[in-house]
Amino acid sequence: MNKPVIPAIEDSKARMAQLLDIQKRANLRKGPPDARLRKDRLARCVTLLKTHKDELIAALDSDFGARSKDMSALTDIVAAISPCTSAIAQLDKWMKPQKRKVTPAALGVLGAKAEVRYQPKGVVGVMTPWNFPVQLSFDAIAGALAAGNRVMLKPSELTPETSALMARLIDLYFDEDEIAVVLGGADVGAAFSELPFDHLIYTGSTNVGRHVMAAAARNLVPVTLELGGKCPVVVGRSADLAKTAARVMAGKTMNAGQICLAPDYIIAPKENREAFVNEATAAVTKMFPNIKSNPDYTAIVSQRHYDRVKGLIDDARAKGAKVVEINPGNEDFSQQEHRKIPPTLILDATDEMSVMQEEIFGPVLPVRTYESFDSTIAEVNARPRPLGLYYFGDDSAESDALLERTHSGGVTINDVIFHISMDDLPFGGVGPSGMGAYHGERGFKEFSHEKAVYRQTASELIAMFRPPYGEAFRKQIASRLK
Ligand code: NAD
Repeated sequence: MNKPVIPAIEDSKARMAQLLDIQKRANLRKGPPDARLRKDRLARCVTLLKTHKDELIAALDSDFGARSKDMSALTDIVAAISPCTSAIAQLDKWMKPQKRKVTPAALGVLGAKAEVRYQPKGVVGVMTPWNFPVQLSFDAIAGALAAGNRVMLKPSELTPETSALMARLIDLYFDEDEIAVVLGGADVGAAFSELPFDHLIYTGSTNVGRHVMAAAARNLVPVTLELGGKCPVVVGRSADLAKTAARVMAGKTMNAGQICLAPDYIIAPKENREAFVNEATAAVTKMFPNIKSNPDYTAIVSQRHYDRVKGLIDDARAKGAKVVEINPGNEDFSQQEHRKIPPTLILDATDEMSVMQEEIFGPVLPVRTYESFDSTIAEVNARPRPLGLYYFGDDSAESDALLERTHSGGVTINDVIFHISMDDLPFGGVGPSGMGAYHGERGFKEFSHEKAVYRQTASELIAMFRPPYGEAFRKQIASRLK
């Protein structure tokens, strides 16, 4: 059975190499799993998540200091089950070889055939971050298992209880040649990314993503990188401000803004800034009449991240921004049990402020303004390509301009974040926010090798293509050059 790795680096390295060897040898010995076995593995993930949901939610709460249990039930249990059940329902269709056109068509008439077969890549390495540890692990595992692979998972060290619990549960439900879990910090992560997997999916920061890709490149391991960035919200003049503010602030306060797709900054029409601030305040007050002891409001995961987010606010204030802390219960946050930061708007945020340079990953929202809509496109294009982009309004000329003239991993119109929850849409970034994509059939393909298979005609008419070249050959060439 599966035993979590002891996080002493040399032991970890030896154990990781051993696990990879066990999984690769199992692949050779047992061959690709059929649909029944793949569905059985996916069903075991579902049973694991349903049976142990309360323990997982409690571990998440403990790791964060305070994490909304209702939110965890949605974001880390339901959202982890959904890719498994959706894969079970569609697997037979996804696995079918796909017929392709034969070229030139005459070969097809003579009985030649072309098709694509989806073959498991082998062993997939999965590296996941702390912000949605259960969901992001099982989402990738679901795609990898559906495609018939074996999996080695390296969850984050910043959520130690959740990661250790996932290791124990996976050990209960799976053999180590199906899924194995490796625990440890950045040193183990670095060693993990150097392993000669058949595919590696990494979810985390853009900076670490660079190291992971460089390490994978040494073995030419194909990678999927799910990274971060600053996701902009563009508010059109046609937008309903109350609705916009309610949806943006719900997205910004979910998991206290610790979401790769959290709205990072907003660009609103200049004349609407005050109204937006008022509506955002009203929306937060309705959701969170108080914050400190409110079980729906999540804390910042660690002291280092708490200090980082507070530092962004202080830096903006020192450089001349107007800071609007939304604190409906007028609570004193200098004394508190958890690391909670109330939702904070940053007005007059300039490019010189850190809050406009780094991904915020906390409940802080710079509000920028525009006079001409075109300048919003220029502003988005002046920054690295983000993971998500949001537009509010019903002016299709504006939304089309944003869709066509800016690049982002995905887009949600008239809300934030939601495109990630569409099982049938590919999820991924572009450039600095990531490469490759997964979810649904796109994930099945990402973790499969698309093998091109051509079956030659029995007819010896094709002999004309061999030397000595004759009249029939030259006629063929002439007709193709017409
Ligand atoms: P992180 O990059 O610090 O850590 C992620 C994982 O990488 C951890 O398991 C860690 O142990 C490992 N790691 C750390 N240093 C390493 C190294 N040098 N080499 C190899 N592995 C190493 O990310 P994080 O802080 O846990 O997560 C936050 C970031 O993740 C944000 O930028 C966020 O936008 C991004 N994110 C992206 C998505 C997405 O789907 N695109 C989802 C969630 C989070």
